[in-house]
Amino acid sequence: MTSLHDTLLPVGVATHPPSPASMEVIGCNAGSPQTTGAASGYLLKVADTTILVDCGPGVVAYLAKTGRLDDLDAVIVTHEHFDHCGDLMALAYHRAFPVPQRPLPLFAPTSLRRTLAAFDEVFGIPTLDELRAPLHSQLPLRAVEIGQSFSVGPVQVDTLAAAHPVPTMSLRFPQLNLVYTADTALTLELIDFSRGCVLLAEATYVTGENRDFSAHGHMSGVEAGLLAHRAESPLLVLTHFSNPSDGGATLLESAQQFGGLIARSSPGLLLPVGRMAL
Ligand SMILES: [Zn+2]
Ligand SMILES: [Zn+2]
Repeated sequence: MTSLHDTLLPVGVATHPPSPASMEVIGCNAGSPQTTGAASGYLLKVADTTILVDCGPGVVAYLAKTGRLDDLDAVIVTHEHFDHCGDLMALAYHRAFPVPQRPLPLFAPTSLRRTLAAFDEVFGIPTLDELRAPLHSQLPLRAVEIGQSFSVGPVQVDTLAAAHPVPTMSLRFPQLNLVYTADTALTLELIDFSRGCVLLAEATYVTGENRDFSAHGHMSGVEAGLLAHRAESPLLVLTHFSNPSDGGATLLESAQQFGGLIARSSPGLLLPVGRMAL
């Protein structure tokens, strides 16, 4: 497992005793699994609480293979695009069959209700009680109004409406000084939201190539670097690559805009989110 130096950062809230916290990259690809692993997925651990953030294709297989699939306490999904929620059904099947487990709360924008119901309609097995509506029974939705904050156990989560074609929430974990942009174009609101935080930022494309991605709802390495610069971030970690071989070039583009620490995501990378007072 790759680990960034864990003394790079100021620690978040400072009361004692602090609990260990980590944010691990599970999958860093846009669209679909690639040679570099799964689509979008991140594992946040704070003391005894484990939260899966996004659940794209390949995420469940990776967690199963590495023995963490049954460690989850909650799931957060940022939006309904398949590369962020496509493995929810695999997770629900796993938790329902053959031995039913306790339901996991799923925090997601209200708009996911329709998507989840459609998944259940298509993939439910009407002849088996526990798989009749797997998402409804195994991952009950805690609908989030984007812009509001919520808590998962001891972990506070702030949300911001991302600039993306479907309702999408960027996430801030204020106790950890950590922001995950999810899928979004660069906005002034995102800069304010991210101020002073470690940034796990999407960089779907290497450069803008003279194209304006703001309507498409994504950033390039250039814009992720600008975001980190203007938000005065202590660390930028790039993710959500459209091409698995682009990570290095994307990092170089970000470095033209941001003079601070930059890393590119890969499965197993641990972000140094420090410790959190509980
Ligand atoms: Zn995406
Ligand atoms: Zn998306």
